[in-house]
Amino acid sequence: MRAWMRSVRNRLKQDFVLRVISLLGACETLTLLPFSIYRFTQGSFEKGIFDGISLLLILCIVGYSWYSNDSQRGGLILAATSALFAGITTNVLGLVGVFWSFPMMLTNFFLTDARRALMINVIMSAVMIPILLQFSQPEGIFSFIASSFTANSCAYLYARRSDLQQKTLTRLATYDDMTGARNRRSLDESLAHARDRLIDEGRPSSLILLDLDNFKSVNDRFGHAYGDEVLVRCANLIRRSVRFDDCLFRFGGEEFLLLLADVKEIDAADVAEDLRRVIASQLGDPSCPITTSLGVTGLHSSDDVKRWLKRADDALYEAKGGGRNRAVLKTCEEEINNQSSSNQVNSV
Ligand code: GH3
Ligand code: MG
Ligand code: MG
Repeated sequence: MRAWMRSVRNRLKQDFVLRVISLLGACETLTLLPFSIYRFTQGSFEKGIFDGISLLLILCIVGYSWYSNDSQRGGLILAATSALFAGITTNVLGLVGVFWSFPMMLTNFFLTDARRALMINVIMSAVMIPILLQFSQPEGIFSFIASSFTANSCAYLYARRSDLQQKTLTRLATYDDMTGARNRRSLDESLAHARDRLIDEGRPSSLILLDLDNFKSVNDRFGHAYGDEVLVRCANLIRRSVRFDDCLFRFGGEEFLLLLADVKEIDAADVAEDLRRVIASQLGDPSCPITTSLGVTGLHSSDDVKRWLKRADDALYEAKGGGRNRAVLKTCEEEINNQSSSNQVNSV
């Protein structure tokens, strides 16, 4: 029970749209349910049924968003549905529907992105105008258009700014500014995802850890700015040499990590060797040749993420120890064999 509640709390914490959808579900239950019951007691069966159906539909969308793990789509469906209901409500309830339409319009900016929300609201306002004509004088219609325009344009500007800020924050939290590679913070999530993929679907993944050779002397000879330039060119070269789906992380100063999804370690070793050759021939120039050492390893079902990374690091260490400018593959079996032989030595 506790684990279940923790997972609900985590999802609500991480997913803003899901939070808004759930809040709307709760608010509508607290308002529409008593309303619907009240209408039945007053003999307004049609309106009571209408409120009941509205509530049921909203709760279905809330359920869909939780169940499908796709709150973005849930939010869009809820925004479109609420626009539809604003029109129907006005048709059924008259001017009272206008009171509902304004919070719905503003809420739509929380449920989906600014452009979609604005489009939905413009359609909703356009549909409501001829309906309102049945109940109101032209001055009333003008007031509706003017207030709807004001509310939507302010909300749109605010939502656009918030979307842009959100994108900037996500970029800053995910990518290294200088090289454009992903940063270490986003690595844990990707590695955990690779592990889930292996356990749940049997799909392999491999790591290639690259470290530029004698990079300190490049900085010392040509300056730090030149070193930075080399790092940027190195990241571009690696990205150009691998598949679009392969994820490149800046692991440390002049260390990069490549996560290859659906690639067995034996094939990853070939990729690493190709990278080594490309970097040795293209990254430096005759006055300053630059090479790299690479550690390669695949993910095994007995691994946790820490052990997987450690094995890649051990492989890189061997490549450095072996004279640099080389790729070394270290398999899980090798690690186990080494451990058992060292255990034997210890026990002798
Ligand atoms: P090797 O890896 O072959 O053992 O030698 P190395 O000289 O590359 O070794 P080490 O890992 O000890 O040094 C890394 C150097 O990388 C130290 C530091 O000056 C440089 N470095 C780290 N981050 C940056 C960076 O962002 N820009 C520049 N220009 N240099 C960096
Ligand atoms: Mg290093
Ligand atoms: Mg180095």
